[in-house]
Amino acid sequence: MRLYLGCHLPAGSGYLAMAKTALSIKANTFQYFTRSPRGGTARALDRDDIAAYNLFSAENGIGTIVAHAPYTVNLCSDKTQIREFARAVMREDLERLQYVDNVVYNFHPGSHVGQGQDQGITMITDALNQVLTEEIKTPVLLETMAGKGSEIGRSFGELAQIIDGIVLKNKIGVCMDSCHVHDAGYDVVNKLDDVLDAFDRLVGLNRLQAFHLNDSKNESGSGKDRHAKIGEGTIGLEAMVGMIRHPKLRHLPFNLETPNELDGYAGEIALLRSLAGE
Ligand code: FE
Ligand code: FE
Ligand code: ZN
Repeated sequence: MRLYLGCHLPAGSGYLAMAKTALSIKANTFQYFTRSPRGGTARALDRDDIAAYNLFSAENGIGTIVAHAPYTVNLCSDKTQIREFARAVMREDLERLQYVDNVVYNFHPGSHVGQGQDQGITMITDALNQVLTEEIKTPVLLETMAGKGSEIGRSFGELAQIIDGIVLKNKIGVCMDSCHVHDAGYDVVNKLDDVLDAFDRLVGLNRLQAFHLNDSKNESGSGKDRHAKIGEGTIGLEAMVGMIRHPKLRHLPFNLETPNELDGYAGEIALLRSLAGE
């Protein structure tokens, strides 16, 4: 089976342009921000571009792509206005994604900013119950977080708690970030099978729909969230190859979010493909 490997692309000039950029670096998936990572208004919706992209991606073997919500989305802020903004952004993003084929929508669950984990989880669940509708076709993915500051989602148990409170559970999935789970304290270097078993018990591997492939600048359990280039961090090349080759993971879209420009990503994709036996 072909590996779906790509990277986070800088906000380009549209879907078709991003797909062509992806192909130019031998990527067959990619991730992009739905709008500036710090929020703001989304680009004008270009239905012609999206239609052209849908055709082009199918013809060129591009798999599931990942739309990443801006970092400013915080469904469990202590400020009403910020929570309202977060819900509005997610609603609008999901409305626009209705036209895009094979896309998942990934977001950071949120930071409780001192209100406590339980309150944070309740707020996230309530907000998702307001945002999700039966009509939405794009899976909404909670990203596994490193646990920096008051981030929710550092443990699989927290993700399970969020999902547990959601009414339309069939709309919800998870995106696993290798740097984040490592920094949160899961031993993905020596015990990937155990980590995946724990994930399966608490969340369910059937919910895992995307993967962020990043090495880490810090030790496991540091709670830091600083991405390193593949093979240059504390996770290391061998463990990263073990992830993309893992029978329980290898069907997923893997996107690099390593500190690279396009040529650096091209190099990492080539290296990983060759080590994965492609
Ligand atoms: Fe992210
Ligand atoms: Fe990530
Ligand atoms: Zn990160």
